[in-house]
Order: sequence, then C-alpha cells, then structure tokens
Amino acid sequence: MNLGEAPVRANLLSAADQSLVDGVLAGQRRALAKAITLIESTRPDHQQRAQQVLNALLPHTGRAIRIGISGVPGAGKSTFIEALGVWLIEQGKKLAVLAVDPSSSVSGGSILGDKTRMELLSQREEAFIRPSPSSGSLGGVAEKSREAMLLCEASGYDVIIIETVGVGQSETTVAGMVDMFCLLQLPNAGDDLQAIKKGIVEIADMVVINKADIDRQATAVVRAQWRNALHMLRPASPHWAPPVVALSALHKEGIADFWAQVEKYQAALKPTGEFEQKRQHQALSWMWQLIEAGLHQHFRRHPLVQENLPALTRSVEEGNTTPAAAAYALLGYLKH
Ligand code: GDP
Repeated sequence: MNLGEAPVRANLLSAADQSLVDGVLAGQRRALAKAITLIESTRPDHQQRAQQVLNALLPHTGRAIRIGISGVPGAGKSTFIEALGVWLIEQGKKLAVLAVDPSSSVSGGSILGDKTRMELLSQREEAFIRPSPSSGSLGGVAEKSREAMLLCEASGYDVIIIETVGVGQSETTVAGMVDMFCLLQLPNAGDDLQAIKKGIVEIADMVVINKADIDRQATAVVRAQWRNALHMLRPASPHWAPPVVALSALHKEGIADFWAQVEKYQAALKPTGEFEQKRQHQALSWMWQLIEAGLHQHFRRHPLVQENLPALTRSVEEGNTTPAAAAYALLGYLKH
C-alpha cells in the first residue's frame, strides 16, 4: 500500500481487469487464482489494479461464513479441514481454504494450505485451496489473506476457512478476520493451561478436541477441563457460550456435530445484530491498521526524517536528547 496514491475508483478498470472481475464473479477458478496473485503482488502498479478489482467485487462479498481454525503442527488441521470440506461438499456447499502463516517467508514455503496436505479436497471442483502468501510480516500476510477471502466470497464460495498455526500472534490476527474462531486441540491434559497463558481462550468461539479415537477417556477429561476453563471467563457475547466438541478427523467422526455448532452460532448471533457488528468492527480495525501502516511508511520515507533520524537516534542513545523531544522533532518534519 502506498500513501498518497489517487483514490481508487471502480470505473477505472481496464478491459483485462474487467474480464478478471467477470471471471471471478462467474466462479472461474483460474480467474480467482489470477486475481489473488494480483493482490499478492508487491508491485505498485499491481497493487493499484488489485484495489480497483477488489472495489468492483466488494458489493458481491460478505455472504460466506468465515471460520478460523488454529492448532499446533500435528494437531490435525489439514486432516480436519479435508474431512470437513468433503462433508460440506456433500451438503452442496463450496469452500475455500486459505492460510495465514507468517513463518512462510522465513522457511521459503508454506506448509499451511498446501494442496498436498489435502489431497482429496484439492481434487474437488467445489473446493479452492490457497497456501499462505509469502509476503513477509504477519500484517502483510494477513492483509493479503483478508483480501483473498473477499475475492473467494465474490466467486461464490459459501464457506471460507482460514487456517493458522497455534503459535504466537497469528491466532489473534486470524480471530480478527473471521466470524468464528476455532481452536483445534489434542486430548492432552494441560494444553488448556498453555492456551490460557497465551490469552487464546478468550478469543475462541469454539474448542475442538481432535483425535478423540486415540483415547476416549482422556478426551472426556480434557473436554471437561476445557469446559471449566471456558466457564471461568466472561463470554464475548451474552448469547454464546463457546462449546467444546470432541471429534476424530481421521475417522470422520463428529464432523456434523462441529457444523451444527457453526449453524447454532449464526442462529444465536445474527438476530441480535452481533454477527454483523463483529464484521463492522473488524472492517474498521482493518482500516485503522492500514492507516497506521501507511503513516508509518510515510514517516520513514520522508526526506527530512531520513536526513535527521541518524543524528537524533545517536543523540537519544547518548542521553543528550530525551526520547520525547526526538520523537516530537521528527514528527514535526512531517509538516514540511
Ligand atoms: P496439521 O499439522 O495440524 O495439519 O496435522 P495433520 O492433519 O497433518 O495431522 C497430523 C497427524 O495426525 C497425521 O498423521 C494425521 O493422520 C493424524 N491425525 C489427524 N487427525 C487424527 C485423528 O482424528 N485421529 C488420529 N488417530 N490421528 C489423526
């Protein structure tokens, strides 16, 4: 994103981009993939075009249910998403699977949303699977995934699944872009304590205990622990107490129960307006994140800031200038 670019107008679409928009709206997978690639591009001219394409598609977004699924590597995310996806297709739905994996830029490849991890699903016409963009920071990756999600909605996908790893900030980021955030857990006692420490329990709309087939008794114990842990918290909505469901992704048991909770969630929060309020809040918070990122970039690129920053940095390090005085002086350059 570049500050100071001309405002985006939908009617500026070139013929090629108009046909891209038409292709996305017609549900063509190739057009959708191409549009996502355009969004992920870091070239300024591509970014400008991507925003125009998005603007044209925006009126056609918002109809899908957006579900976040997080879990540590090995929790069974891909097995679960594949089982759920195949089940949803049997119910007549189309789903898109996207990933938010900030580590992909470090490792050079994303393990999340990888087609080889969901082999059955990737062969289905009704499923669209896209690995995490490898564009760098978590903010950058999340921004691209958010926009890819809107494109998938415009292309007629009813269910959008955003997969992320259960480590660090990425869970909070994904929770901030979906309607329902689900934590995928293993039936190991004590895992809930980890999640409580990390402050993750608060953002969960549902807890899923996978691999229930391995040890049913341990699963029941862990399920009770989770229920207690959730019970101690004040729920985000007075109309929704996050449930704890146990299932076996491998044996495809409990998938319908999981989906029943997704439907229950919507039935509980849509009539009260909370469902829509959450989306509005997320959209505004996204806008502010972009404003802050843009201001930051503007600041860093300002010639006077670039000129004076090194000396002021040294001066603060040496104790000759207070951090506040240096900050005000640098911010003052923005007025010039
Ligand atoms: P991810 O890293 O979270 O995507 O985890 P995977 O889906 O790759 O699963 C990791 C391993 O756990 C694989 O060997 C799966 O076959 C296995 N697994 C996943 N779900 C279940 C389950 O419900 N029961 C059992 N027994 N194994 C499972």
